[in-house]
Amino acid sequence: MTVTLPEPGDAAVESAAAFPPPNDDLQRLWTPHRMVYVGGQDKPKDATASSCPFCAIDSADDERRLVVARGATCFAILNLYPYNPGHLMVLPYRHVSGYVDLTEAETVELAHLTQTAIRTLARVYRPGGYNLGMNQGEVAGAGIAAHLHQHVVPRWQGDANFLPVVARTKAVPELLADTRARLAAAWPADEPAEAPGEDPLEEPS
Ligand SMILES: [Zn+2]
Repeated sequence: MTVTLPEPGDAAVESAAAFPPPNDDLQRLWTPHRMVYVGGQDKPKDATASSCPFCAIDSADDERRLVVARGATCFAILNLYPYNPGHLMVLPYRHVSGYVDLTEAETVELAHLTQTAIRTLARVYRPGGYNLGMNQGEVAGAGIAAHLHQHVVPRWQGDANFLPVVARTKAVPELLADTRARLAAAWPADEPAEAPGEDPLEEPS
Protein backbone atom coordinates (compact mmCIF):
# COMPACT_ATOMS: atom_id res chain seq x y z
CA MET A 1 0.00 0.00 0.00
CA THR A 2 1.27 3.45 -0.92
CA VAL A 3 0.75 6.20 1.62
CA THR A 4 1.03 9.74 0.32
CA LEU A 5 2.45 11.99 2.99
CA PRO A 6 1.33 15.64 2.94
CA GLU A 7 3.82 18.23 1.76
CA PRO A 8 4.68 21.12 4.08
CA GLY A 9 1.81 23.57 3.93
CA ASP A 10 -0.50 20.94 2.50
CA ALA A 11 -3.80 21.08 4.42
CA ALA A 12 -4.89 17.62 3.23
CA VAL A 13 -5.57 15.10 5.95
CA GLU A 14 -4.22 11.60 5.59
CA SER A 15 -6.90 9.06 4.96
CA ALA A 16 -7.73 6.77 7.87
CA ALA A 17 -7.97 3.97 5.31
CA ALA A 18 -4.21 4.22 4.88
CA PHE A 19 -3.86 2.91 8.42
CA PRO A 20 -5.32 -0.60 8.59
CA PRO A 21 -6.29 -1.85 12.04
CA PRO A 22 -3.93 -4.24 13.79
CA ASN A 23 -4.61 -7.84 12.88
CA ASP A 24 -6.36 -9.11 16.01
CA ASP A 25 -9.86 -9.93 17.22
CA LEU A 26 -10.32 -6.96 19.52
CA GLN A 27 -13.07 -4.42 19.03
CA ARG A 28 -11.90 -0.88 19.58
CA LEU A 29 -13.50 2.22 21.03
CA TRP A 30 -12.55 5.10 18.78
CA THR A 31 -12.64 8.26 20.84
CA PRO A 32 -10.95 10.98 18.81
CA HIS A 33 -12.49 13.72 20.99
CA ARG A 34 -10.26 12.50 23.79
CA MET A 35 -7.20 13.54 21.82
CA VAL A 36 -7.66 17.03 23.20
CA TYR A 37 -7.28 15.53 26.62
CA VAL A 38 -4.51 13.12 25.70
CA GLY A 39 -2.75 16.08 24.15
CA GLY A 40 -2.59 17.62 27.57
CA GLN A 41 -4.68 20.72 27.01
CA ASP A 42 -6.46 20.42 30.36
CA LYS A 43 -3.79 18.55 32.26
CA PRO A 44 -2.80 20.09 35.59
CA LYS A 45 0.66 21.64 35.46
CA ASP A 46 1.72 19.67 38.53
CA ALA A 47 0.34 17.22 41.11
CA THR A 48 -0.45 19.78 43.83
CA ALA A 49 -3.96 20.48 45.09
CA SER A 50 -3.69 24.11 43.96
CA SER A 51 -3.28 22.96 40.33
CA CYS A 52 -5.99 20.30 40.60
CA PRO A 53 -9.24 20.89 38.68
CA PHE A 54 -11.15 18.63 41.08
CA CYS A 55 -10.02 20.65 44.11
CA ALA A 56 -11.00 23.94 42.50
CA ILE A 57 -14.72 23.20 42.48
CA ASP A 58 -16.66 25.47 44.79
CA SER A 59 -20.12 24.25 45.79
CA ALA A 60 -21.62 27.50 44.44
CA ASP A 61 -20.31 26.39 41.05
CA ASP A 62 -21.95 22.97 40.87
CA GLU A 63 -24.10 23.64 37.82
CA ARG A 64 -21.33 25.19 35.74
CA ARG A 65 -18.76 22.62 36.85
CA LEU A 66 -21.17 19.73 36.16
CA VAL A 67 -21.28 18.40 39.73
CA VAL A 68 -24.20 15.96 39.89
CA ALA A 69 -24.35 15.17 43.61
CA ARG A 70 -22.42 15.78 46.82
CA GLY A 71 -21.92 13.54 49.83
CA ALA A 72 -20.09 14.19 53.10
CA THR A 73 -16.64 13.06 51.90
CA CYS A 74 -17.10 12.35 48.18
CA PHE A 75 -18.98 13.77 45.21
CA ALA A 76 -20.11 12.84 41.69
CA ILE A 77 -19.26 14.93 38.64
CA LEU A 78 -19.75 14.53 34.89
CA ASN A 79 -16.68 13.69 32.85
CA LEU A 80 -15.85 16.62 30.58
CA TYR A 81 -14.60 14.17 27.94
CA PRO A 82 -17.20 11.42 28.08
CA TYR A 83 -16.82 8.03 26.48
CA ASN A 84 -20.62 7.82 26.47
CA PRO A 85 -23.56 10.01 27.50
CA GLY A 86 -23.88 10.00 31.28
CA HIS A 87 -20.19 9.15 31.86
CA LEU A 88 -19.50 10.42 35.35
CA MET A 89 -16.89 10.14 38.05
CA VAL A 90 -17.10 9.62 41.81
CA LEU A 91 -14.24 11.02 43.85
CA PRO A 92 -13.21 12.18 47.31
CA TYR A 93 -13.05 15.90 48.13
CA ARG A 94 -9.62 15.23 49.58
CA HIS A 95 -6.65 15.49 47.20
CA VAL A 96 -5.34 11.91 47.36
CA SER A 97 -3.97 9.84 44.50
CA GLY A 98 -4.17 6.27 45.76
CA TYR A 99 -7.16 4.08 46.46
CA VAL A 100 -5.33 2.76 49.51
CA ASP A 101 -5.03 6.36 50.80
CA LEU A 102 -8.79 6.70 51.28
CA THR A 103 -10.14 6.76 54.82
CA GLU A 104 -12.74 4.21 55.86
CA ALA A 105 -15.49 6.81 55.54
CA GLU A 106 -14.31 7.85 52.05
CA THR A 107 -14.06 4.22 50.93
CA VAL A 108 -17.63 3.54 52.05
CA GLU A 109 -19.06 6.70 50.54
CA LEU A 110 -17.18 6.28 47.25
CA ALA A 111 -18.77 2.86 46.91
CA HIS A 112 -22.16 4.14 48.02
CA LEU A 113 -22.16 7.05 45.56
CA THR A 114 -21.04 4.69 42.79
CA GLN A 115 -24.06 2.50 43.48
CA THR A 116 -26.34 5.54 43.53
CA ALA A 117 -24.80 6.74 40.26
CA ILE A 118 -25.61 3.39 38.64
CA ARG A 119 -29.18 3.45 39.96
CA THR A 120 -29.66 7.03 38.75
CA LEU A 121 -28.15 6.32 35.32
CA ALA A 122 -30.40 3.26 35.07
CA ARG A 123 -33.49 5.39 35.65
CA VAL A 124 -32.48 8.23 33.34
CA TYR A 125 -30.63 6.49 30.49
CA ARG A 126 -31.44 2.78 30.81
CA PRO A 127 -28.02 1.56 29.66
CA GLY A 128 -27.42 -2.13 29.09
CA GLY A 129 -24.29 -2.23 31.23
CA TYR A 130 -21.53 -0.23 32.90
CA ASN A 131 -17.77 0.04 33.02
CA LEU A 132 -16.48 0.94 36.48
CA GLY A 133 -12.85 1.72 36.99
CA MET A 134 -10.02 3.68 38.47
CA ASN A 135 -6.77 4.36 36.68
CA GLN A 136 -4.04 4.55 39.29
CA GLY A 137 -1.12 6.61 38.04
CA GLU A 138 -0.43 8.25 34.68
CA VAL A 139 1.20 5.10 33.35
CA ALA A 140 -2.14 3.34 33.90
CA GLY A 141 -4.05 5.99 31.98
CA ALA A 142 -5.13 8.42 34.68
CA GLY A 143 -5.67 11.88 33.17
CA ILE A 144 -5.54 13.58 36.56
CA ALA A 145 -3.43 11.09 38.47
CA ALA A 146 -2.98 13.21 41.59
CA HIS A 147 -6.67 13.10 42.54
CA LEU A 148 -8.28 9.67 42.64
CA HIS A 149 -11.50 9.31 40.65
CA GLN A 150 -13.70 6.36 39.82
CA HIS A 151 -15.22 6.32 36.35
CA VAL A 152 -18.80 5.15 35.86
CA VAL A 153 -19.41 4.67 32.13
CA PRO A 154 -22.85 3.57 30.93
CA ARG A 155 -22.72 1.16 28.00
CA TRP A 156 -25.18 0.23 25.31
CA GLN A 157 -25.13 -2.63 22.85
CA GLY A 158 -23.22 -1.40 19.81
CA ASP A 159 -22.25 1.92 21.41
CA ALA A 160 -18.75 1.65 19.99
CA ASN A 161 -20.35 2.23 16.58
CA PHE A 162 -21.92 5.58 17.43
CA LEU A 163 -19.05 7.01 19.45
CA PRO A 164 -17.84 9.09 16.51
CA VAL A 165 -21.26 10.76 16.55
CA VAL A 166 -20.92 11.41 20.25
CA ALA A 167 -17.47 12.78 19.59
CA ARG A 168 -18.87 15.36 17.22
CA THR A 169 -21.66 16.46 19.53
CA LYS A 170 -20.10 16.16 22.95
CA ALA A 171 -18.25 19.46 22.71
CA VAL A 172 -21.53 21.37 22.82
CA PRO A 173 -21.67 22.58 26.42
CA GLU A 174 -25.46 22.48 26.52
CA LEU A 175 -25.38 18.74 26.02
CA LEU A 176 -23.33 18.17 29.18
CA ALA A 177 -25.40 20.76 31.03
CA ASP A 178 -28.54 18.87 30.05
CA THR A 179 -27.01 15.59 31.19
CA ARG A 180 -26.08 17.14 34.52
CA ALA A 181 -29.56 18.60 34.99
CA ARG A 182 -31.24 15.28 34.24
CA LEU A 183 -28.99 13.26 36.55
CA ALA A 184 -29.06 15.83 39.37
CA ALA A 185 -32.87 15.90 39.20
CA ALA A 186 -33.09 12.10 39.28
CA TRP A 187 -30.47 11.67 42.03
CA PRO A 188 -32.25 10.51 45.24
CA ALA A 189 -32.52 13.40 47.69
CA ASP A 190 -31.86 11.17 50.69
CA GLU A 191 -28.44 9.98 49.46
CA PRO A 192 -26.11 9.18 51.09
CA ALA A 193 -28.44 7.17 53.28
CA GLU A 194 -25.80 6.34 55.87
CA ALA A 195 -23.58 9.05 57.30
CA PRO A 196 -19.93 7.96 57.44
CA GLY A 197 -18.92 7.01 60.96
CA GLU A 198 -22.47 6.20 62.00
CA ASP A 199 -22.70 3.44 64.59
CA PRO A 200 -24.20 0.47 62.75
CA LEU A 201 -25.19 -1.18 66.04
CA GLU A 202 -27.27 1.75 67.22
CA GLU A 203 -30.97 0.97 67.49
CA PRO A 204 -33.10 3.05 65.12
CA SER A 205 -35.26 5.47 67.09
ZN1 LIG B 1 -7.39 17.50 43.86
